[in-house]
Amino acid sequence: MSFCSEVKSELLNLRLSGCCLSAYSYGFMLFGRSFSIKRIALQTASEDVAKGYCNAIFTSYRIKPQITKGGSKRPTFVAEVTSEADRLKILAENDFGMNTELIDDTIFVRECCFGAFVRGAFLACGNINDPEKEYRLEFNVKLETIALELQALFLGVGISLKSTKLGKGLKLYTKDSAVIEDLLTLMGASKHTLTIMDTKIMKSVKNNINRARNCDSANISKTVEASIKQRTAIEFLERADRLESLPIELLEAANLRKANPDATLKELCRLSTTPLTVSGLNHRFAKIIEIYEEIKK
Ligand SMILES: [Zn+2]
Repeated sequence: MSFCSEVKSELLNLRLSGCCLSAYSYGFMLFGRSFSIKRIALQTASEDVAKGYCNAIFTSYRIKPQITKGGSKRPTFVAEVTSEADRLKILAENDFGMNTELIDDTIFVRECCFGAFVRGAFLACGNINDPEKEYRLEFNVKLETIALELQALFLGVGISLKSTKLGKGLKLYTKDSAVIEDLLTLMGASKHTLTIMDTKIMKSVKNNINRARNCDSANISKTVEASIKQRTAIEFLERADRLESLPIELLEAANLRKANPDATLKELCRLSTTPLTVSGLNHRFAKIIEIYEEIKK
C-alpha cells in the first residue's frame, strides 16, 4: 500500500462529529470530478475512496451514488449521483444552492468542521508522497476560483500553500514538512503526522551521523551525538508546548542550541549573550534532556 493510500485509509476510518458531516461530504463532492446540477461525480484509483464518497453522501442525504469500475491497466472507479432529482436535492439542501464555483463557508459551524471539509477535499483530489522519498502534499483542484478560495481559507488557519496551473484549475501544494504535519493534523490523520515527525528526526540524525563519519575526529562525532540528543529533546518539548514554560536559563540554552544546531559547547558559550561556562551549559542541557525523558514516560 502506498503512503498516500495509507493516509487516505486513516482518514476514511475516522469518526465524524455530527456537526462535521455536511462539511465533510461537501468537501468530498466539491473537489471531486464534477459538482453541478449536470453531474456530481468522483473519479479515483481507489475503491475505498469511491466507497467513502458514497457513504458520505448516503449519510448526509440518504442518496446512494453508483460506482462503476473502468480502466484496463490501472483500475479507476467512478462514483456518481445518477439521478437529476437527487442532484437537485443535494444542491438545494444546502445554502450553497446552485453556485458551485465558490466555497460556501457558512457550512463550517465549528472549527472542527473546516478540518472535516479539508479531509473530504483531500480524499477527493489530494496526494501525499512518501516522506522517506520526498516531502510533498498537494490538492489538484479542477477550478481556479475554488482553488484560490481554498488557499485563502488555509491562510486563515496559518497554512500557506503554493500554487501552480493545472488545466482550468490549480494545484495547491507544499514541500515543507512542517506544513504537511499541520495539514495532516487539521484533517485528523494523527497517526501519519507522527510518522512524518519520526521520519524527519531520523533523517536529520542520519545526516548528522554521515557528516560525523566523514570526519576522523571522534570528538566531532561525540559533539554531533550530544547535539542530536539535545535537539531531539528541545524539539519534543517545543511540540509538546513545554519549551516556553522552562526556567529561563534552560530556555536560553535551548534557544542557543536551536539557533546553532552544529556548534560545540565551547562555541555556544562564545555565542551566548550572557556569560556561560562549558560545564554550566552542559549541566543545563542535561536538565533539559532529563525533563524530556520525564515527560516522555
Ligand atoms: Zn464540526
